[in-house]
Amino acid sequence: MSHSTEPLYAPLRARLAAINDRIAAAARDSGRPASSVTLVAVSKTHPADAILAALQAGQSCFGENRVQEAAAKFPALRPAWPSLRLHLIGGLQTNKADDAVRLADTIESLDRPKLADAIARAADRAGRLPDLLVQVNIGDEPQKSGIPTAAADTFIAHCRTQFGARLRGLMCIPPADEDPTPHFKALAALGARHGLETLSMGMSADFEAAIRAGATHVRVGTLLFGQR
Ligand SMILES: *Cc1c(COP(=O)(O)O)cnc(C)c1O
Repeated sequence: MSHSTEPLYAPLRARLAAINDRIAAAARDSGRPASSVTLVAVSKTHPADAILAALQAGQSCFGENRVQEAAAKFPALRPAWPSLRLHLIGGLQTNKADDAVRLADTIESLDRPKLADAIARAADRAGRLPDLLVQVNIGDEPQKSGIPTAAADTFIAHCRTQFGARLRGLMCIPPADEDPTPHFKALAALGARHGLETLSMGMSADFEAAIRAGATHVRVGTLLFGQR
């Protein structure tokens, strides 16, 4: 993790500024301050040097979808960057719950009762519980993770009982081949019904539409770090 590699990532500073400008404009369009939207910089597959370059450019919140990869990259960065926040955004196996609970500031992919139980037990062992988002399979796609929409109300209520205020909100990934806006609006309505404030929705291709539908967190990878 040498500082001499920074020129390799010089365009990253400009890309980050452009994304933050677009976030601010979309927030303004919906009558909200730019500060109401957090950019989660999705650094999966990119090396720690790219993350360091983003930190140096002022980005502090990152998303990874694999626990082992996050474990290899993030703990070493934390001492020098106390503002760093790590979100785990990928499908999570119950046997990774211990590592996930130790590593993450937020787990965005809580999507089934067995995983909720594994996280609760891991939190007891670790003495810490990250913030949690329930991932909703908002398009009810057979291959996709996330709680099915028909089971979402019950599962959210269950997680509220189990985790209290650590349950912050909802996350979704709409079907790739559809207009995402109706799905974003459906997630926002579900969150409102449960009094949950955090809505993680929108990626490189659709984060502005997500913000206009109420996103508080957008997860942007490719547009910031380049192709994977
Ligand atoms: C990879 C990933 C992203 C980022 O996608 P881009 O299209 O590269 O911005 C967002 N959310 C999740 C859950 C991901 O796995």
